[in-house]
Amino acid sequence: MRQYELVERVRRYNPHADEALLNRAYVYAMKAHGSQKRASGDPYMSHPLEVAAILTELKLDDATIVAAVLHDTIEDTEATREEIDRLFGHEIGELVDGLTKIRRLDLVSKKAAQAENLRKLLLAVSSDIRVLLVKLADRLHNMRTLHFVPPEKRARIAEETLDIYAPLAGRMGMQSMREELEDLAFRHFRPDAYETISKRLVDFFSESGSLVTKIETELRDRLQAAGLKVDVKGRLKKPYSIWRKMERKSISFEQLSDILGFRLIVNTVEECYAVLGVVHRAWPSVPGRFKDYISTPKQNDYRSIHTTVVGPSRQRVELQIRSIEMNEIADYGIAAHALYKDDAANGVGHESRAYTWLRRTVEQLAEGDPEEFLEHTKLELFHDQVFCFTPKGRLIALPRGATAIDFAYAVHTVVGNSAVGCKVNGRIVPLLAPLHNGDEVEIVCAEGQVPPAAWESIAVTGKARAAIRRSTREAVRKQYAGLGRRIIERAFVRAGKTYEDERLKAALPRLARPTLDDVLAAVGRGEIYSGDVVRAVYPDYKGERTISQPTGKTEAGWFGLKQAEGLVFKVPGAQQESNPEPSSQAIPIRGIESDLPVKFAPNGGAVPGDRIIGILTKGEGITIYPIQSPSLMAFDDQPERWLDVRWDIEEGHRQRFPAQISVTVINEPGTLAQIATVIGENDGNIDTLTVTGPSQDFREMLIDIEVWDLKHLNAILSQLRMRPVVSKADRVNG
Ligand code: MN
Repeated sequence: MRQYELVERVRRYNPHADEALLNRAYVYAMKAHGSQKRASGDPYMSHPLEVAAILTELKLDDATIVAAVLHDTIEDTEATREEIDRLFGHEIGELVDGLTKIRRLDLVSKKAAQAENLRKLLLAVSSDIRVLLVKLADRLHNMRTLHFVPPEKRARIAEETLDIYAPLAGRMGMQSMREELEDLAFRHFRPDAYETISKRLVDFFSESGSLVTKIETELRDRLQAAGLKVDVKGRLKKPYSIWRKMERKSISFEQLSDILGFRLIVNTVEECYAVLGVVHRAWPSVPGRFKDYISTPKQNDYRSIHTTVVGPSRQRVELQIRSIEMNEIADYGIAAHALYKDDAANGVGHESRAYTWLRRTVEQLAEGDPEEFLEHTKLELFHDQVFCFTPKGRLIALPRGATAIDFAYAVHTVVGNSAVGCKVNGRIVPLLAPLHNGDEVEIVCAEGQVPPAAWESIAVTGKARAAIRRSTREAVRKQYAGLGRRIIERAFVRAGKTYEDERLKAALPRLARPTLDDVLAAVGRGEIYSGDVVRAVYPDYKGERTISQPTGKTEAGWFGLKQAEGLVFKVPGAQQESNPEPSSQAIPIRGIESDLPVKFAPNGGAVPGDRIIGILTKGEGITIYPIQSPSLMAFDDQPERWLDVRWDIEEGHRQRFPAQISVTVINEPGTLAQIATVIGENDGNIDTLTVTGPSQDFREMLIDIEVWDLKHLNAILSQLRMRPVVSKADRVNG
């Protein structure tokens, strides 16, 4: 690029260009940069000239082109803002100053600081979008010449381009710029992936080259037959977007369905829909792939119709249908609107959304409300992230969909664990509500909180999930430790000793546990027998023994339950007293039209208040199950055996029904008596009671019980749960 070429280019789209101004800028920059060289060995001046040339493709105004020529002078040479103001005027001075500020931000380009830098960058330049356009052109030229830069620097610059500049170009609607930035950056960011995908694209094209021509011809013929003049362009998906899609969806190259696409360009909006009609009549469209961005443009003003059809050779073909104007806007975005050309009369009436967006942005800044600006504009650049602030202004970047829970853990694990509520933008909202860009989030904490285990499935970030898991595990352990302490203290009392933490600590080696809490939790979980803990502290204590060293009946007797494992009680008289063996007549069920015998399912039965199902067994009769019974799953595939039945019973009836409950108790003297008393006092009949022992400190009792109805059963269960010796009481099949 030579100076006269640059002037030529500008004159081509702007005959009134200020040639003298352009030449003065060139001479000034040339002198300022002097003998400086680029990494490529070229004179430095080649760089600002190329940057300016890129901007001529966007047909930008003189001031922007001059700013591009001067963009590195303040930072890299003796030139000053005052001098530039004096020689080129305030407008150009402002532009170059903006670019200088961004350059300085580049120097602080650690990964973590990037989002923050982006914010500053945009704030610094949004008063004049032209600064951003020059910056993008600057970055594009630097990316084009990145291979001259030392290898160790390339990956970082490439990553920054992918993180900040390419999305920025996209947000401004400049797809060509975006694609080129991505392509150049991808080569250096992931050279091996770039290599592989590019090679596969070449293979794909050589294999399907004739196919492309075939589809292209067929499309053109069909459209021509319909009287439509259409510019058809075949187009391969870019390596970077292929890679992103493969990463995002974890799919292979072969599974990508949209590598090949066609752009159909016409003159008018009406023709766009006419083309769509022809295409959809000729080939079946793929459901879910149709998007009409003409009636609903994207926020960056992108307009086009997208559809995918199953093409002539049964392969999927992606089509983009748009007018010439839409295509220009898609490629050049904001720049396509030639915003800063002087002729205001020209193009009035077509105020693009991009322009509105920009103007609003600038207005907001002018009104001195940068926070509002942040909220509404800058942060939309990263579609897959949300940026939120702490009350002190610290920026927290989170994945899209993140909640205040994620935010709290991102601030600090302690904050996450003790979070009980939050305020977003000063208003109290649930912790589970998703956050939005620009939200200021204040977490309300309380001491001694434990995050609910359910949060783990709500949290989006790995950090939050891991911390919640750790914390709930710890909370469960504490509960067991508390239960263990209760059991141990009672055991010491029975042994006539006094329990002290210090003494137990001294005995830890004998229990082979590292800490006091470990012992307590192990007892609570039933892994260590409380009697063994007493003996570990008082080795000559001869009292309770483990079952492995039986000493016969202890003073605790039957109701101590220590020896009760596998024991079955048949409570005498229970059945005769109130409830004879249920017979088919005795089960008051509606919905059965035969004389088949009816019985309750074993293990639990059903009681009035339960929703019930009858299962028909040929030659045997009907078995009644409560609807929640897991046994019903066995009949899932035999719908013909299911009968819709209902209770036929009146309020205040005097008939008992069988149910089964399971009660886990701490094993100590008198426990069984307590349980029997609770059930008796609450008007329940125990039919049979089976004791099993998950461990020496716990006993599980399976009790067949007879109750009036579901309410009665639940009342008994809740009375049982209130007893300190009961650690669990549930209905079987409940
Ligand atoms: Mn530069």
